[in-house]
Amino acid sequence: MTAADTPRRPLLISMHARDNVAIVANDGGLPPGTVLPAGPTLRDQVPQGHKVALRDIPADGAVLRYGIPIGYALKDIPAGSWVHERLLKMPTARELEGLPIATVKPEPQAPLEGYTFEGYRNADGSVGTRNILAITTTVQCVAGVLDFAVQRIKTELLPKYPNVDDVIGLEHTYGCGVAIDAEGAEIPIRTLRNISLNPNFGGEVMVVSLGCEKLQPERLLPPGSIPITDQRGANEALDVVCLQDEAHIGFMSMIDAIMGTAKNHLEKLNARRRVNVPASELVVGVQCGGSDAFSGVTANPAVGYCTDLLVRAGASVMFSEVTEVRDAIDQLTSRATTPEVAEAMIQQMAWYDAYLQRGRVDRSANTTPGNKKGGLSNIVEKAMGSIIKSGSSPISGVLPPGEKLRQTGLTFAATPASDFICGTLQLAAGMNLHVFTTGRGTPYGLAECPVIKVATRSDLARRWHDLMDVNAGTIADGDKTIEEVGWELFQLMLDVASGRKKTWAEQWKLHNALVLFNPAPVT
Ligand code: CA
Repeated sequence: MTAADTPRRPLLISMHARDNVAIVANDGGLPPGTVLPAGPTLRDQVPQGHKVALRDIPADGAVLRYGIPIGYALKDIPAGSWVHERLLKMPTARELEGLPIATVKPEPQAPLEGYTFEGYRNADGSVGTRNILAITTTVQCVAGVLDFAVQRIKTELLPKYPNVDDVIGLEHTYGCGVAIDAEGAEIPIRTLRNISLNPNFGGEVMVVSLGCEKLQPERLLPPGSIPITDQRGANEALDVVCLQDEAHIGFMSMIDAIMGTAKNHLEKLNARRRVNVPASELVVGVQCGGSDAFSGVTANPAVGYCTDLLVRAGASVMFSEVTEVRDAIDQLTSRATTPEVAEAMIQQMAWYDAYLQRGRVDRSANTTPGNKKGGLSNIVEKAMGSIIKSGSSPISGVLPPGEKLRQTGLTFAATPASDFICGTLQLAAGMNLHVFTTGRGTPYGLAECPVIKVATRSDLARRWHDLMDVNAGTIADGDKTIEEVGWELFQLMLDVASGRKKTWAEQWKLHNALVLFNPAPVT
């Protein structure tokens, strides 16, 4: 026999004592004829991450993973069969009436004290993890001009300001050609406003505007919206370069104006220094993308453990992705600290149900071909794995999309699950560190804030060794515990927040576009 022919020790992972399926953890899956530790012999080839029936499941019987029905058998499924999405009928979404409200009272966890990082303290009290000049735009029309200016700022000005990490344009597709007074239009507008005020930008707001656009600078950043800093008095006007201004004769005049304004802000940013601050100043957004069946077994539980550590340290943590928590709404409303928090969560779910209904779809439109290839049969199974990122702490707040987060502890920030839209909305909330889990693999990154990427499988971590920051696949391999990887992530977060370590996405300067959530019509 060659090594390839040697029967491999089957590695199965089940999540709950009630489960009648388990997932195959072996790289490359398992062949038919494999005798499983639980008894049955495999009847089919089962790919890695996919489910196998541990017992006979009769037609219409519940298929249980995470201890809950993730689907109902469309026909008899004998023990040892591959249980894939074509054999399952998806459960209907849980009604939003009669949910358990604030019923779970978790044991209070001991505060975690003494953990600090080196951050940039802002005049408004917030703390940045990076020192970035971010140039706000009112409209997509100015993007080409601003790109040109940013390239020149990077080559000609930035080297003179060694304490500034980067210069970026906050570009987007909003600003004109939109029904700006329609219901829902307040979401993209407040998102842009609050992103401009992200703690990583030090309050140094400057705007590039075209002139004739619907989203006028004063509407984007009305008087009083920018916190008064050490440098800025209460009456100081918004710093705007308007391309249609009659003073501009030729393209270079616009570039000179942008560069001149940028120089003033670079000087102020360059004077910022990192200071020692408590870990409670972290504002962390967690999300997942390119998920597989291991997401809920390895990376998301490790992130959930880390979420609990952050909450114990007094930090702010946001979890999001409405369509990926919808099927677990009863678990979330029961963990709410108060009936008001639970009610706010239900309202966000109801709003999103109606939003999807407008397109005649529901939350099942979320799953991708890659999710299914990775073993996730449907949105119910995906959601059970997704919410584990929120750990076990009480949920003390709900944040509507585009709003700024103003409290510590664990908050449900209601955003779409789309990676770029979720990241954009978490930036608007004031996120200064992002944690992203992936099973299929994505090179996702943000220019505005560091993104720590956590791989769900060792195979991915090996192949993408220079893109993944943490390998949670070691949990499935039996090499590390969830707690060990959770602590590893926590320590890495303090190092990355301090600028002592860069994430791989920062190393390679990989970043995705800001993508605004605009539920309102365009014109
Ligand atoms: Ca996502």
